[in-house]
Amino acid sequence: MILEDFISIDKVGLYCKYGNFYLDPKEPVKDAIISHAHGDHAIGGHANVYCTQATSLFMKHRYRKNAGERFHIKSYQESFSINTVSITFIPAGHMLGSAMILMEYGGVKYLYTGDYKLQPDATCEQIEFLKADVLITETTFADSSTQHPDAEVEILKLNTTQNNIMLGAYVLGKSQRLIYLINKYCPQRRILVHFSMMPFLKIYEELGINVGKYEIYDRKVMKANPTNMVYLVPPMVYNSYSRAVNVVRVFATGWKHLQKGNDIQLLISDHADWNDILKMIEEIQPQEVWTNHGDGRELKSHFTYKLKVKSLN
Ligand SMILES: [Zn+2]
Ligand SMILES: [Zn+2]
Repeated sequence: MILEDFISIDKVGLYCKYGNFYLDPKEPVKDAIISHAHGDHAIGGHANVYCTQATSLFMKHRYRKNAGERFHIKSYQESFSINTVSITFIPAGHMLGSAMILMEYGGVKYLYTGDYKLQPDATCEQIEFLKADVLITETTFADSSTQHPDAEVEILKLNTTQNNIMLGAYVLGKSQRLIYLINKYCPQRRILVHFSMMPFLKIYEELGINVGKYEIYDRKVMKANPTNMVYLVPPMVYNSYSRAVNVVRVFATGWKHLQKGNDIQLLISDHADWNDILKMIEEIQPQEVWTNHGDGRELKSHFTYKLKVKSLN
């Protein structure tokens, strides 16, 4: 029987009272299961951190001594228990090391997706589907007007100009994916990366991901070469160069409102869009869908009389 209170939201985050642990908590707790290393899911300071190896390396780089007291590194498909809840990590396809968290208790399977995507991405593990009774899904882009174009089609837009490009992107996950895509689809481009991106790129390479060629940014190189360069920068740096001249400004995101003022609209997202969420539900075949992280109202009305959809937030 599905326990309606198996997962609830309090001010710290998603809490499982049957196992006394949190999923991606926003404040330090005793037992934290971390789906992936993005800052809004993985904070430092927990006593026990359960996560994949890649997630632990990213967290330790970002938070140093404050990353957490004890890391319990788990492989995908390796089951372990916290109190009497059995836990298994399943690839989520969102970024390297990202995991969906399968929780089994009282003969019922609850699957928390964290962030996930269905689009292929050579820089991370491909998402894996399984059957579960309850799907706890993020709804970042759960409105039917959001459909992410293929990343391959989007990246070819960079070939419409020869001018140097300043490309803004999140440091972790998105920028590695972009470097891979540019190497593959825009091979004439030389890729310069902001120094803050280098440590994460190193971790990707240590974990066996080959993103292709790139160099650390050097302003002399950029100045000496007026064409065919792309300079990859984190969002803060991108925004601080809003008046940069002699470069084409591009920011890679699935959010349309963040595309205003950019010279090329590069709609590359690492989240599921509307159709992906529907496909996910089709694959998982849940009896109930619980939503968080976004707005689940359109999903709820879409499934009226067909499937129970409830919002956790
Ligand atoms: Zn994320
Ligand atoms: Zn997120």
